[in-house]
Amino acid sequence: MYSDLEGKVVIVTGGATGIGRAICERFGKEKAKVVINYHSERESTKDIISAIEAAGGQATSLKGDVRSEDDIKKLVAHAAETFGSVDVMVNNAGVENEVPSHELSLDDWHRVIETNLTGQFLGSREAIRYMLEHNIKGSIINMSSVHEIIPWPHFVHYAASKGGVKLMSQTLALEYAPKGIRVNNIAPGAIDTPINAEKFADPEKKKGVIDLIPLGYIGKPEEIAACAVWLASSEASYVTGLTLFADGGMTKYPGFQAGRG
Ligand code: NAD
Repeated sequence: MYSDLEGKVVIVTGGATGIGRAICERFGKEKAKVVINYHSERESTKDIISAIEAAGGQATSLKGDVRSEDDIKKLVAHAAETFGSVDVMVNNAGVENEVPSHELSLDDWHRVIETNLTGQFLGSREAIRYMLEHNIKGSIINMSSVHEIIPWPHFVHYAASKGGVKLMSQTLALEYAPKGIRVNNIAPGAIDTPINAEKFADPEKKKGVIDLIPLGYIGKPEEIAACAVWLASSEASYVTGLTLFADGGMTKYPGFQAGRG
């Protein structure tokens, strides 16, 4: 637990499911004030708000599309109006779909780049604006992926978006370090969330993924949430411009395990 997170105002995009939901609930356990952005009418934030309140935190939710400049401005304004600050911004919302690159439509390319990269830029920019105006030494956490460094055939738009998030975050980290605003990435490996539900329902595909993970299992959303609270806390006060890989060793060349190569 990180006692300095108590009462901090934390925005999480794509907070109704998967990794985002786990992050919201973990900040609740830290007794933070959580603003949950959700995207689809089908996503309910009622249970998440209840869980956060039961843990001693506070929470509110707002529907919005991270691709929309207007929606992101409303999200930051909602946090400020409801809880009086913006201390931590977690740009987590993301999408992917599998298509051979030569068949990828321009619409799909735009949808993924706009959600995963432009959305994270808008979230970072609006949070940083608020932090600068109110002299807040805040923390921005962007959800990248191991695919910020691992090329991924059939997911060229996704890999391009996460590669973009890598240098976007590092650039923002450098630019706003003099103001005490820290900007970091989390790069999950394979995590058990709705984004992977179809793939992991197929035992052969699931085994194919596990074979790429030296620790030998698919990660849990809570293991990513643990990285987010640490990065947001004062325990990480000297950490900026980092990509924290939480991937069970996936980026450490598992093909070379057991002395192969
Ligand atoms: P998920 O599908 O459960 O979560 C994605 C969330 O983003 C959903 O809540 C969805 O509603 C939201 N979203 C999508 N488009 C949006 C939009 N335009 N505006 C607002 N919200 C929108 O999957 P997840 O695994 O929890 O993914 C969360 C993040 O983690 C994503 O950025 C993803 O790329 C990243 N990630 C996931 C994995 C993994 O294995 N699960 C690995 C690496 C990175």
